[in-house]
Amino acid sequence: MLADLGYAPTNNPAASDMILLNTCSVRGGAEEKVYRRLANLRIYKRDGKKQIIAVGGCVAQQEGDGLLRKLPYVDLVIGTHNLHLLPEMVRGAEQGERRSETTFIDNDQRLDLFPAIKGESRLSRFVTVMQGCDNFCSYCIVPYVRGREISRRSADVLAEVRQLANEGVREVILLGQNVNSYGLKTGHEPSFADLIRLVAEIDGIDRIRFTTSHPKDMSDELISCFGDVPKLSSQIHLPAQSGSNSVLTLMGRGYTRESYLDKVRKLRAMRPDIVFTGDIIVGFPGETDVDFEQTLSLMEEIRYIDLFSFVYSPRPGTKAAELPDDQPRAVKMARLDRLMELQRRHTRELSQPYIGSTMSVLVEGEGKLPGQVSGKADIGRIVNFSGDSSLVGLFVDVKIIKAYPNSLLGER
Ligand code: SF4
Repeated sequence: MLADLGYAPTNNPAASDMILLNTCSVRGGAEEKVYRRLANLRIYKRDGKKQIIAVGGCVAQQEGDGLLRKLPYVDLVIGTHNLHLLPEMVRGAEQGERRSETTFIDNDQRLDLFPAIKGESRLSRFVTVMQGCDNFCSYCIVPYVRGREISRRSADVLAEVRQLANEGVREVILLGQNVNSYGLKTGHEPSFADLIRLVAEIDGIDRIRFTTSHPKDMSDELISCFGDVPKLSSQIHLPAQSGSNSVLTLMGRGYTRESYLDKVRKLRAMRPDIVFTGDIIVGFPGETDVDFEQTLSLMEEIRYIDLFSFVYSPRPGTKAAELPDDQPRAVKMARLDRLMELQRRHTRELSQPYIGSTMSVLVEGEGKLPGQVSGKADIGRIVNFSGDSSLVGLFVDVKIIKAYPNSLLGER
């Protein structure tokens, strides 16, 4: 959108005409970082320099024109439903106008406003299939800042994927807050499982991933895709958040430890080499030592290859923010340390057996070291190996010779 207005990317913020900060408010830490970053960006505007500072994303949605009042050097605040207004807002800001737009848009209108995501990679692209969330997990701010769930028209999704395939894209990542509930509420769109099958029929697209999945909506139909859609990646992100049923109930997650494990078992039956990644929140209000031990034991049962783990932070307006935050910070940090130590062990133990195996790697660009190229294997791990740019865009068979915490080293 900005390119259409004549803007181009730069690595030099001091000399730029515009800085747009895309923000996240899912945790308190991420939100505080936005304010620190904005305070730092302010220096570029000194001496009356004409530069537009814009804030988009969830913090923009949450704070609205309060951001303009608090921070006089911010020019634009663009809410999560208002990205289509970006061009006219930027044109106004070029004339000195300060503006905030955070109105939620009706679903009928929203259906025509899904922006195509132009990533940097020519080979792997995100494709939005749904936005927003109706789950209202007690700790989560997403339904308040992204709005209610809406599924994009399948015809629009498929047209975008076909277009990407024509441009040479080989992998698509179907994106949404909870892709598993795609189509459920429309009554006329395919289910997410059927959408995956339709995407898999598109020539040129050789690998399909999706994120993120709510375990309660992981249907048997979707699980069966891992058995009969070979283009579907063997890695799945399935956030458990806790291994304790009492904490899961307080979180309002809508599943139990047992039902979560049951879905994992079914997924493994469909795709024996599947690998799991997940999210865990540590120190949720009321989490006892016993609850925490149950989370560790869940991790032992699943053995995630990667895990995003966080200390709970209350988010304004959510149900959990009203619960007494009863765990001392030191206890939460000690739990997080133990959990991360266990995860490091699991990552190490799960990665080692890949040594000696051959993986099909979609080469996306330069590798970690000179003379190397890099890409992702089907299981989502980054693989570096010796090669040159002629391999970019190809699926190359690579033998794994070494495993690191965040990547694998291989040879052709
Ligand atoms: S399903 Fe995910 S996005 Fe939706 S409320 Fe729960 S944690 Fe937030």
